[in-house]
Amino acid sequence: MITAERKPFEQIKAVTDQFENILVVGCNTCVAVCLTGGEKEAEQLASQLRLQRKNDGIGGSVETVTVLRQCENEYVDAVAAQVEGKDLILSTACSIGPQLFADRFPKVRVAPAMNTNMLGVVKQHHVWTEYCAACGDCGIFNTGGICPIVRCAKTLLNGPCGGSQGGRCEISPDVPCVWQLIYDKLASFGLEGNLSRIGGPKNWSKSSSGGPRTMKKEGFEP
Ligand code: SF4
Ligand code: SF4
Repeated sequence: MITAERKPFEQIKAVTDQFENILVVGCNTCVAVCLTGGEKEAEQLASQLRLQRKNDGIGGSVETVTVLRQCENEYVDAVAAQVEGKDLILSTACSIGPQLFADRFPKVRVAPAMNTNMLGVVKQHHVWTEYCAACGDCGIFNTGGICPIVRCAKTLLNGPCGGSQGGRCEISPDVPCVWQLIYDKLASFGLEGNLSRIGGPKNWSKSSSGGPRTMKKEGFEP
């Protein structure tokens, strides 16, 4: 899932204090699962803002609404009535949400309440770990189902580096060297010899370094 954490309240306040009528919009998918930007968290943020603004003598209103996904036009467009008359849309979605609101409601200012951080998996209760950088050309079949792009601190495609010690990454003894994990996984299939072959250069044009990407599902008209 996409994970995102709420910005510090003081940062949000510095933006919202400039506006009179605010709509806080939650998103009930990824950020709801990671307990940071779903309906409950959007309502908590709206309550916190109302209280702070009352104490600071700021007029206007803070309303809230939550949609299923802020990454789809139909859900964003469905709250047009609530957006009417607002000066600011404050989104608690990942950073896709506020951008789509800015597209769909070009006359209303939009602000993110969140910092989007990664594509992650739940490793423990309430702990997420990054597993994918969306590079657009997945090669993990060759690395035992383990991504060196996002899980190696140096994004090495032919590792390990010289800093790997005792199976741990040089950035911290708490972090496994992903190339040790890859070696162990391939060895469990008797394939560790594959690592003696140097992989060719990766085509990074499919990553975000090739500019904004578009995906079109074959067989469907936009
Ligand atoms: S190789 Fe690319 S697509 Fe595959 S897991 Fe790694 S970053 Fe994600
Ligand atoms: S120690 Fe391993 S995981 Fe860390 S940077 Fe070097 S190769 Fe990558």
